[in-house]
Amino acid sequence: VLALWLNRLGARVRVVDKAPEPGTTSRALAVQARTLELYRQMGLAAPVVEQGVPARALNIWAKGEPKGRIELEPTGKDVSPFPYVLVYPQDAHEKFLTARLAAAGVAVERPVELVEMRDEPDRMVAHLRRHDGSVETCEAPFVAGCDGARSVVRESLRVGFPGGTYSHVFYVADVEATGPTMNGEVHIVLDDTSNFLLCFPMGSNRGRLVGTVHETDDSRVATLGWNDVSQGVLERARVRVDKVHWFSTYRVHHRVASAFRVGRAFLLGDAGHIHSPVGGQGMNTGIGDAINLAWKLAGVTRGRHDPRILDSYEEERIPFARRLVASTDRAFELVTADSPLAAAIRVGVAPPLLTTLFHVGPLRKFLFETVSQIGIHYRGSHLSEGQAGAVHGGDRLPWVRLGVGTDNFDPLQSLDWQVHVYGAPTSDITKACSTHHLPCHVFEWGPAAKNAGLAHDGVYLVRPDGYVALASEGEDAARKLGIYFATRGIRLPERAKG
Ligand SMILES: Cc1cc2nc3c(=O)[nH]c(=O)nc-3n(C[C@H](O)[C@H](O)[C@H](O)COP(=O)(O)OP(=O)(O)OC[C@H]3O[C@@H](n4cnc5c(N)ncnc54)[C@H](O)[C@@H]3O)c2cc1C
Repeated sequence: VLALWLNRLGARVRVVDKAPEPGTTSRALAVQARTLELYRQMGLAAPVVEQGVPARALNIWAKGEPKGRIELEPTGKDVSPFPYVLVYPQDAHEKFLTARLAAAGVAVERPVELVEMRDEPDRMVAHLRRHDGSVETCEAPFVAGCDGARSVVRESLRVGFPGGTYSHVFYVADVEATGPTMNGEVHIVLDDTSNFLLCFPMGSNRGRLVGTVHETDDSRVATLGWNDVSQGVLERARVRVDKVHWFSTYRVHHRVASAFRVGRAFLLGDAGHIHSPVGGQGMNTGIGDAINLAWKLAGVTRGRHDPRILDSYEEERIPFARRLVASTDRAFELVTADSPLAAAIRVGVAPPLLTTLFHVGPLRKFLFETVSQIGIHYRGSHLSEGQAGAVHGGDRLPWVRLGVGTDNFDPLQSLDWQVHVYGAPTSDITKACSTHHLPCHVFEWGPAAKNAGLAHDGVYLVRPDGYVALASEGEDAARKLGIYFATRGIRLPERAKG
């Protein structure tokens, strides 16, 4: 995703991977709404949605019975163009992205392994081992370490990865099955044993099951099979498995790197943060990291942005990673703890509580925004400023449906800075946009904009990744716009004129 976005913005990239081929076992299944919104900016959302299965409701089971059903669409439809969780297996997803990258002229070089790297004052120097054993020296202005939990980039930078490892082993199984959980929705099965089960739809009578296997002996993890899975929780959820197409197991950790940037090198995805798969957040967070960094790096390599903008990558992404790891850790502890009290909370308290919370309007919106990652904001960043209506600098630009098939996210496909005005722009704003070569998109004021929290005649400077940089209303919005660019070292070229 990082390479695709950088390539779109004209930055030259080289991608190496030590694996001889893209992953063939699936891990991530859930693609969240915020990821799809960002994909839409890159022209990827429509083909991804077409290949996946939108799950529009989550069901919570306990004691062998469905205890609650949470419909995502009624809440999500006013918040995002993607009011669901898309089930799209990571192996297919990676193949799709790699093909898009190849079509854009960037081949992933395989198997090419980064063995070590060092930081020179003006460049990074990396040693890459090819499949024939030869070692090549590669020099580049920046290195993005998207190299997973055992990141060599992280180790070369001597960045710590504090946290721990869960004693449970996760499994993912691709199955043909029948039963009430195979109805095209997502099912979370809580049990009074320390086993749990997630069922994801994959089409008629086909699904992916994610659960845990008890295994303390690390040497046995790779050899575990379907027969090692406890059948009790499956039986209680009435899942009748007819065929297992494939089965894989994973040892899961909860860790956050102590820094996401050292000089000219960055850590993204699992190289920077890993946690339990409960909640379907890991891959989505990595994609969010990539997009946060991509436009900043592209701006710096093309001389449009002062390099200090790169400080905002860690500033914006590490607080979210820390919160995410802490919250998924708590959720995982609750679903797998052995104590009688935890079991009682899990099957007795949690299902009705979650269902009730989802029936309270504002809480429902909060839960949807949290799981879908729409709620991620960068209010504390040095790139974020001001407030207009309920929208602060650093918030994701709220989505506003304008009419059939049109919305305020359409212009974000330029992947460039832009100004949005909801109402009428003053002549000063029009002039300031022209001075800074900024496209100014004017949207009619109406109930949809109001409900989204935007201010009438509010002025929103929107970053290339769809987050609000500056929110302002009133007379001095134009002056603030000028100061914003001057103080952040951001220059916009003539071609951005709208
Ligand atoms: C059971 C399970 C279920 C999950 N479900 C979900 C879900 O539903 N939703 C979700 O968002 N996330 C989920 N996740 C998490 C998700 O799979 C990961 O967060 C995601 O794969 C991380 O992607 P990544 O690119 O950062 O790292 P990886 O996928 O680990 O990729 C790292 C890449 O770097 C390459 N590499 C490593 N070292 C080197 C080197 N020295 N030189 C060159 N190349 C190197 C590797 O070959 C690999 O291709 C799940 C995880 C598990 C285990």
